[in-house]
Amino acid sequence: MDLVLVDFDDTLVDTGPRFSKRRSRLFRFLEDQGFNRQEIERVHHEVVDSELLGLLGFGPFRLGPSFRDTYVRLCVFDGRTPDLAVARRAEELARGVEQASPPLPGALEALERLAGELPTAIYTQSGFPEYQLQCMASVGLLEIVPRARIRVTPEKTTAAFRRVAGEMGARPGPDVWMVGNSVRSDVNPALAAGARAIWVNAGEGWHHDRAELLRPTPTTSTFAEAVDRLLDGP
Ligand SMILES: [Mg+2]
Repeated sequence: MDLVLVDFDDTLVDTGPRFSKRRSRLFRFLEDQGFNRQEIERVHHEVVDSELLGLLGFGPFRLGPSFRDTYVRLCVFDGRTPDLAVARRAEELARGVEQASPPLPGALEALERLAGELPTAIYTQSGFPEYQLQCMASVGLLEIVPRARIRVTPEKTTAAFRRVAGEMGARPGPDVWMVGNSVRSDVNPALAAGARAIWVNAGEGWHHDRAELLRPTPTTSTFAEAVDRLLDGP
C-alpha cells in the first residue's frame, strides 16, 4: 500500500454531536415561535446553511450566523416581521460549538497502529486551517502523525484528493486508500480519482455528508475496524 489518507472530524473525533445537539435546540426553539418543523429544517439545511458554507466554509464559525439567519429567513418567507431579541436568542443557541471535539473511543490507538505499519496522512477540510490544527493538536494527533503529513483543505474535491495524494508522494490508484465518514467528501472523491476507500458509517451523520456511493465500497462502523481491515489486507 502506497498511502492511507485518514479523515479527522467524525472519523477520529466526535464532531457531529457538537453541531447536531445545537441544531435540535434551534429547531425546537423555532417550533415554539410557531414555525413548521419540516419548513424549519428545509430552510436551515438547504437555504441558509448551504449559502453560508459557500461564504464561510466548513468549521464552527457559521453556526451562530446560520441560526440567526434561519429565523429571519423563516419570518421573511412567512411575511412576519422578525423580532431582533428572538434573532439574538437563536444565535446564542450555537454558543460553545467551537470547543474541540473529543476522540472517538479507540480511534487514536488505531491511528497509531496504522501509522506504525503503513504510510499514513491526515486529510481534513476546514475553512480555517489554524483552528483545525488546534483541534488536532488538542487531542494529541500531532504526536501520532507529524505536521508534514497533515493537510487541511477548504473542500474535499476530487482535484484536492489528487493534489494531496501527490504531495504525499503517491498517485491515486488501487494502492491508495481514503478512510472517512463522509460519502460526499471522503469516499466519492477518492473513488472518482481512481483510489480506494473505506466508508466509516457511524450512523445518520450530517445532512451535507449524505450522498449515494459512486460504487460499492467496504464499510465499517468504526475507524478501528477500518484499520483492522487495512492491516489484515483488504
Ligand atoms: Mg469527517
